Amino acid sequence: MSASIIDGKAIAAQLREKVAAEVSRLKTAHDLVPGIAVVLVGDNPASEVYVRNKSKAVAEAGMRAVDRKLPASTSEADLLALVTQLNADPAVHGILVQLPLPDQIDAQKVIAAIDPDKDVDGFHPINAGRLASGLPGLVPCTPLGCVMLAKTVHASLASMEAVVVGRSNIVGKPVAQLLLAENATVTICHSKTRNLKAVCRRADVLVAAIGRPEMILSDWIKPGATVIDVGINRVPGEGGKSRIVGDVAKDAREVAGALTPVPGGVGPMTIACLLVNTLHAACMQRGLPAPAV
Ligand code: NAP
Repeated sequence: MSASIIDGKAIAAQLREKVAAEVSRLKTAHDLVPGIAVVLVGDNPASEVYVRNKSKAVAEAGMRAVDRKLPASTSEADLLALVTQLNADPAVHGILVQLPLPDQIDAQKVIAAIDPDKDVDGFHPINAGRLASGLPGLVPCTPLGCVMLAKTVHASLASMEAVVVGRSNIVGKPVAQLLLAENATVTICHSKTRNLKAVCRRADVLVAAIGRPEMILSDWIKPGATVIDVGINRVPGEGGKSRIVGDVAKDAREVAGALTPVPGGVGPMTIACLLVNTLHAACMQRGLPAPAV
């Protein structure tokens, strides 16, 4: 059996088109242009690429991008002052501070300083609490994208056995909460989980968010399962170049029913969901009903 490939790139492109249509409607009907401030501190090359891609997607969706690039030497106080200023700016509906931050800055302090209603990354403890309590709020983008992709395979995830490998605040925990909200039966695994292979083999939906190249082997997967591979791992490739692989072995596609490729699976959904969150934040702040996207 060969798994069907969940084309995250195409699904994300469709989502971005829907967001752009909503943005256009909001501009005409309410003179509202959703705005997002993307703050980059320092010159981490990977972060620079992420921020560039995010800003491009924001502009393509017809939103306003307010990019702020600060030097690596920026103090915590200066970054907190910028967040305060962006919190008060009515043209800025979403604030994203690109992680990681330089050592002199406490990332948790910065995340906590962002107005929860503008926290389009969904990392603020208030939004984490809302998600855990089943209350509406802004949800982290990558987990949101994972569940959207799983739902392209199964219209309903209710009663399914879902296993999440990884318990980070950014991916593992929120994706588990979202799957629970979809009425799946959820197990969260981590580095201390006993007999991980056996637990993974129970999964109808398996989410791998580990950060270990191709750790999940094909015989860890229940035949026909839906596999969402969040991992982005750089490994040595041919000719001295590096290549990107996921957390799931390539031959998993011989066993799974459906799976996300790496690259081209979860990755493109993350940016598309950032646009969705910004749209929701803008409507919420204007007192408008939640958009259909
Ligand atoms: P993280 O904070 O390092 O968390 C990794 C998790 O995996 C931890 O909970 C850890 O368990 C668990 N783990 C590590 N080794 C394990 C093992 N041998 N067995 C079982 N569990 C193990 O990473 P993250 O931020 O969640 O990211 C995970 C992966 O997703 C990375 O490859 C990252 O690059 C990728 N990612 C992709 C996107 C995207 O847009 N596609 C977005 C974010 C992240 P403990 O808690 O016990 O240490």
